[in-house]
Amino acid sequence: MYIKLLYKFEQKEKSLRDKEARMKEIDQELQIKEEIENIQNQIEGLKSAISGFINRKREIERDIDESKDQLKGITSLLNGNKLKTSKEVRAAKKTKENLEAKTEELEKNLEFTETAIKEKESQIKELEKETAEQEERLQSIHKERELLGKEIKNETAKLKKEFRKIAKEIPEDIMIRYEKIKDSFPYGAISPIEKGACLNCGAMLPLEVLEELKDSKGEKLIRCEVCGKILYFPEEIK
Ligand SMILES: [Zn+2]
Repeated sequence: MYIKLLYKFEQKEKSLRDKEARMKEIDQELQIKEEIENIQNQIEGLKSAISGFINRKREIERDIDESKDQLKGITSLLNGNKLKTSKEVRAAKKTKENLEAKTEELEKNLEFTETAIKEKESQIKELEKETAEQEERLQSIHKERELLGKEIKNETAKLKKEFRKIAKEIPEDIMIRYEKIKDSFPYGAISPIEKGACLNCGAMLPLEVLEELKDSKGEKLIRCEVCGKILYFPEEIK
């Protein structure tokens, strides 16, 4: 009976410990804050790159207009038969060809610039979506942390009270021995028996130990000879 009380208590302690472990995990997860900042920096970088590309685009557009104007002028010269010598005609034709090549080149540059802007804009969209998701995750982590913190605080106080209560029900000599053994096994000093074996280490227990456990009805502190934990014989086992 005493061992059962202590074992049930340890089960509750374990649930509290799991919550504390989750709390540590949460603190790790809170590092996504840095990730979010990282993404935001990336977005800023992309935005400034876009503004550079937009300036470049305007320059190219101006150059194209200028080039087309010049082309118009030279074409009208050629078409209007205003050139006197064949040398002049040749020179004008050459200039026209050069302007056409230049315009073509500029238009290619313009296309490249526009594509680069579009690509960066879609990268920003992706990153903004990611940030929103991470922000949402961060909020839910904060919520969980707050709840868990409250639960841990309440349960810790409850368990302390409960332990004092059990300690009163259990003979002092057993309590003293139990607490001493628990120093070596802070995460649970009691191991139940399953199919004649210690559940903690798997060692098969000698028949006389099993008999002794059965007879003691959980009022004696008997340890596993292999791992040293206190053995608990659940009463549903006959
Ligand atoms: Zn054992």
